[in-house]
Amino acid sequence: MINFAKFNDAISLWDDVSPPRKIYPSLSESISGDVVIIGGGIVGLSSALHLAKKGYKPIVLEGKTIGSGASGRNNGQVIPVLSRAEPEKIEQIYGEVGKRFTTLIRDSANYLFQLARDENIECEAEQTGWFQPAHSKAHLESSKWRNSAWARRGAPCKMLDKEQSFALLGSDQWYGGMYNPTGGHINPLKFTSGLATACERLGVQIFENSAASKIERKGNGWVVKTKNGYINCVSLLLATNAYSETFTSNLAPKVTKSIVPLVSFQLATKPLSDELRQSIIPNREAVSDTRGDLQYFRYDARNRLISGGALIFKGNAEQRLKKIVGKRFAKAFPKMGVPEFSHIWSGNVGMSMDKFPHFYKLGENYWGWSGCNGRGLALGVSIGREFALAIDGKGDIALPLEKPKPIAFHPIVKKLAPSALAYYRWKDKQKPKSRNLNE
Ligand SMILES: Cc1cc2nc3c(=O)[nH]c(=O)nc-3n(C[C@H](O)[C@H](O)[C@H](O)COP(=O)(O)OP(=O)(O)OC[C@H]3O[C@@H](n4cnc5c(N)ncnc54)[C@H](O)[C@@H]3O)c2cc1C
Repeated sequence: MINFAKFNDAISLWDDVSPPRKIYPSLSESISGDVVIIGGGIVGLSSALHLAKKGYKPIVLEGKTIGSGASGRNNGQVIPVLSRAEPEKIEQIYGEVGKRFTTLIRDSANYLFQLARDENIECEAEQTGWFQPAHSKAHLESSKWRNSAWARRGAPCKMLDKEQSFALLGSDQWYGGMYNPTGGHINPLKFTSGLATACERLGVQIFENSAASKIERKGNGWVVKTKNGYINCVSLLLATNAYSETFTSNLAPKVTKSIVPLVSFQLATKPLSDELRQSIIPNREAVSDTRGDLQYFRYDARNRLISGGALIFKGNAEQRLKKIVGKRFAKAFPKMGVPEFSHIWSGNVGMSMDKFPHFYKLGENYWGWSGCNGRGLALGVSIGREFALAIDGKGDIALPLEKPKPIAFHPIVKKLAPSALAYYRWKDKQKPKSRNLNE
């Protein structure tokens, strides 16, 4: 059943095909704990899990329900690279910690799949590889450069030529591209709920419908207030990313203003016939191409193809999305034609101005992050591991820590941000900067 009234609250495919969510209590008293984590998405829960494994007893505060943010509403592609931030740039800016961070990214897809196995998280995981086909000959050159940059850093990636790309996709619309066998896809809601269950097993306390409304320093620790309770704690992690403004804009205003939340729409087809399925992405890889106005596809466990897109204006969104994304399907896979869609929903992506994710030390024993730029699944799990290390204070973390940089004229930038799509569409037609393969 599709609820088109509000895409950000619409029942997602993942809601529809996953077991009913476990309901966690709301915080209604005053308690104490060692670590409070604000945000019940992948980053918050992965941090809690890794902390619990170190003997901590973290408390997770979620404003709505576990996985109700981006973590339970995304496309589920497990991708071991960032959207735009390239490894050499990361290392150039951040030096040694940048090198640790690129290693984290390189290993992040394997780490997610391994964690799912270790914690018995049943999440329809398919480690079938991730393919980034180039949408033009010129972009194929960029793909080669990107592939060699990652290969030099030990990623098991390789280039596929046009013929191999055709065999992988069942489409001649792309020109070859970078393939990485460690990627794949999951049911992200089941994965997020599974992380919460794994946390609970290790003694993590989870509260839903318990938005943090205020953070205050008290003595050597922190007090986090919700509507009906508060928690005294030593350490604090802000893991609210693109949803930082959902409940209050005053919790950590500098973090909130460091990104722009962009609405990304998801569309799932009805299950494909066996014949069609075997001719389109027959080996079920996760696919997202080189465009800024990204084209991407993946199967779910019931053989629906899931893609998505963004809109500059939201008027008549349902019909326009069906038309835009339907046309893309028909062009890429003519045998399929314009498909019927069974689910349309959306979620918020935290976009930073430089397309880098940013990690913050916000105060004494207080950390946070923002800016997934659409790549936060594999990354998010590993970020959680590193935040646990930071909170534990033993060892070198692989995240470059900075102070949040609020975007100037944030309310205006937020309003204008969807129109950046027009720029991406224009840029997708331009020749990218040529680069030396050994650069
Ligand atoms: C439509 C869509 C498709 C995407 N596709 C992919 C993909 O295929 N692959 C990929 O790698 N990435 C993808 N992403 C990005 C990825 O989903 C995110 O980067 C990732 O889920 C971020 O996890 P998180 O834990 O940081 O944030 P979230 O999952 O958004 O969690 C933040 C949580 O904080 C809660 N919160 C906010 N304020 C408060 C408060 N005051 N108190 C308590 N709780 C609060 C929110 O309710 C929310 O649940 C996609 C994102 C979207 C929206």
